[in-house]
Amino acid sequence: MPLNRVVIVGCGVIGATIAYELSQSPDLHITVIDAHAPASGSTGAALGVAMAVISQKAKGRNWRLREQSLRRYPTLLAELEAATGQLIQRNQGILKICFDIEDLPRWQSLQAIRQAQGYSLELWTPEQILERCPYLDVSRAVVGVYSPQDIQVNPTELTQALVTAARQRGVSFQFGEAVIGFETATSGATTICTGVQTAGQTFPTDRVIVAAGLGSTPLTASLPQPTVLGPVLGQGLRLHLAQPLGNPSSPLVINGNDIHLVPLGGGDYWIGATVEFPAHPDDPAAAIADFLSHPPDPSLLDEVLQGAIAYCPALAQGTITDRWFGLRPRPQGQAAPVLKPLEGCANGMLATGHYRNGVLLAPATALAVRDWVLG
Ligand SMILES: Cc1cc2nc3c(=O)[nH]c(=O)nc-3n(C[C@H](O)[C@H](O)[C@H](O)COP(=O)(O)OP(=O)(O)OC[C@H]3O[C@@H](n4cnc5c(N)ncnc54)[C@H](O)[C@@H]3O)c2cc1C
Repeated sequence: MPLNRVVIVGCGVIGATIAYELSQSPDLHITVIDAHAPASGSTGAALGVAMAVISQKAKGRNWRLREQSLRRYPTLLAELEAATGQLIQRNQGILKICFDIEDLPRWQSLQAIRQAQGYSLELWTPEQILERCPYLDVSRAVVGVYSPQDIQVNPTELTQALVTAARQRGVSFQFGEAVIGFETATSGATTICTGVQTAGQTFPTDRVIVAAGLGSTPLTASLPQPTVLGPVLGQGLRLHLAQPLGNPSSPLVINGNDIHLVPLGGGDYWIGATVEFPAHPDDPAAAIADFLSHPPDPSLLDEVLQGAIAYCPALAQGTITDRWFGLRPRPQGQAAPVLKPLEGCANGMLATGHYRNGVLLAPATALAVRDWVLG
């Protein structure tokens, strides 16, 4: 029998993108299992800012993955919109405002690197920032770093579109079923996963991909090399302005002091996010329980809002229409993301631990998994 059954555990942006990329191979029988609805984990809290060209990563795996995503995103979004007939909310272009003169040489050097790599990064004077974005306070700004090729995409809309398009190509989705373990078979020194178990049934498989975000920790706990991911809490908010900022036909995602301002259209904006580390970093299960049993500290989100108001004063007139939080899956003892074979399960792969960059890195992750599955 050909080895063509693939089970993906998790339907956040990572699992959904993997399912979609794999669905382009008609010989594969793909099942995605999630304990909840699509995008109900970290993905549902994300702002979807994909900082590739504008990130300081210029070489190695970190840049390679970013670049692969950057190249794949335009075609991926076009394919999804054609398949589903639905527009996916997004923005083209990110402006980072820098306030520290000592950072300027780093940006000048990055600009030269990006040019050599075939990407464009513009350095704007405060006056040039004002020309494009008159609503910003540039009195303390040293330079604006504008990246026309970087994007922001709505993570929930993206994930839902991926599910719809993958389903059209025959992928089976099982929502509301938690994976509780793996059925394995051993031959000599090799153990393989033959089935993925939920409370109600076992899904026979030839390949298993663990894309379960924070849920990857308990799933790998009994394997020879558990993958430990700790939660890092992030809070965000949605704000409405009676008068939208600047020219609504050319909105820009702004970042200042690591605070994103994401235009959503119609005078609505996302602002975020906090980065809150757990009190029990060595015990991820306790840390998650801790975060989920207390409401997050509103003063930390207010600090983020004040930080955004400092560079965009008009936000002070806005009405907050929503506040939320999510837990980012951060690998412990290894770099993010965790993209590697599943130790103790020769036909398994981990695609998890994307920490602050899961939306950015989803396309590159899916391509890496596709290459592994197709050998
Ligand atoms: C406030 C905030 C802002 C962010 N902003 C950005 C941003 O601007 N750009 C960016 O790139 N990233 C951002 N991130 C990070 C991003 O959200 C994550 O890196 C990304 O969502 C991880 O995706 P995932 O699919 O691996 O995990 P998740 O979205 O958490 O999905 C994992 C899925 O696995 C399922 N699951 C878990 N265990 C099991 C099990 N045993 N059985 C079945 N199903 C299971 C869960 O139900 C869940 O649906 C942000 C995160 C937060 C919290």
